Amino acid sequence: MALIVQKFGGTSVGNVERIQHVATQVAKAVKAGDQVVVAVSAMSGETNRLTALAKEMQKRPSKREMDVLLTTGEQVTIALLSMALQERDCPAISYTGWQVPITTDNVHSKARIEHIDGEKILQQVADGKVVVVAGFQGIGMDGDITTLGRGGSDTTAVALAAALNADECQIYTDVDGVYTTDPRVVPEAKRLDTVTYDEMLELASLGAKVLQIRSVEFASKYNVPLRVLSSMKEGGGTLITAEDKFKDSDMEKPLISGIAFSRDEAKLMILGVPDKPGMAYQILGPVSDANIEIDMIIQNQGVDGTTDFTFTVGRADMEAALEILQSTASHLGAREVVSDDTIVKISMVGVGMKSHSGIASTMFKTLADNNINIQMIGTTEIKISVVIDEPCLELAVQSLHEAFELDK
Ligand code: ADP
Ligand code: ASP
Ligand code: MG
Repeated sequence: MALIVQKFGGTSVGNVERIQHVATQVAKAVKAGDQVVVAVSAMSGETNRLTALAKEMQKRPSKREMDVLLTTGEQVTIALLSMALQERDCPAISYTGWQVPITTDNVHSKARIEHIDGEKILQQVADGKVVVVAGFQGIGMDGDITTLGRGGSDTTAVALAAALNADECQIYTDVDGVYTTDPRVVPEAKRLDTVTYDEMLELASLGAKVLQIRSVEFASKYNVPLRVLSSMKEGGGTLITAEDKFKDSDMEKPLISGIAFSRDEAKLMILGVPDKPGMAYQILGPVSDANIEIDMIIQNQGVDGTTDFTFTVGRADMEAALEILQSTASHLGAREVVSDDTIVKISMVGVGMKSHSGIASTMFKTLADNNINIQMIGTTEIKISVVIDEPCLELAVQSLHEAFELDK
């Protein structure tokens, strides 16, 4: 008898019929002899709908109240799914995050799970029940409701699997696995049978939202076998594990495992700052102090004793970063501050890249051939990222996918 954690995302519980379908599927696993703990998201669109409601009340609602509001979405689906299971003679009980409890830090809207008390869940499972847990939510040390950031139900599922010592964590979604890139953008994208934690971490952190990055961090840290599957169609999906099925010397080892992209990007430039020691710190320090994550950074070679400085932040943080930068600019006597939230970041990822040159030049040539201007470039051992104009996104991803023969 295996203990499995199954997570169903928003589309998979998007309406009454889908929830009933999920219940049938869970009941089938139980009939087959598995013990099942389920984590669910809110119905698709619900988190966005609630966010829009909040915006009608207040321009910048407090993160604490947002967490109270957004967690209601998952509370609806746990109850409905439990009812549907009971209707199928499958005993079930629902728990919110704070009932479990899933304890987090106090950082509203992007809390980190600190501890899961698995006792109550294991007791219910031992009594023959399916336990349905609300994804995306927890309770802070101070007793407040918290959320884990968008896509956080993935992390709830993997953290539950780790805490309960489950045999596998299955993430059911609207695609049947992890693909070489988002199949919505490149229909020719290929499903990968296996992906290593390291590759998945890169893909997720660079924008492949099929898994929230924290969930992959958890899986890797606690060695939880993680599988991405479709809730609508049968198949083995993609297994994410520590093992690389290819050896480094393997001729078949792919150089590139996938292309990720992120639309959640904005660029800020401060022009004509004095070219002297301490500038990077004076410009970026206040931005970091405001808890704004900085991603790519470029500082130009100084001319006439001044230089230009460019960096990117998440799109939602652009306004706040701009305000800070404007005040820094007047204080430093900089010439101008410019912002742009119509950029995207595209990244090619592959552990096989380490030992191969020429990937970057093929990437740049492909973009040039398609008349796509590169605004920024960043590299590590296993990835190359470029920032380009948002309208060029689809063309860039499609042509790179083809140039690197990822469809083969
Ligand atoms: P859920 O609501 O089930 O959590 P998400 O919308 O968060 O689902 O994630 C699934 C989506 O991730 C897919 O519909 C797909 O468009 C997108 N996606 C992005 N990159 C990839 C990739 N490399 N492989 C598969 N899906 C991807
Ligand atoms: N409902 C949340 C969201 O839409 C969490 C999740 O679905 O994973 O981001
Ligand atoms: Mg998701």
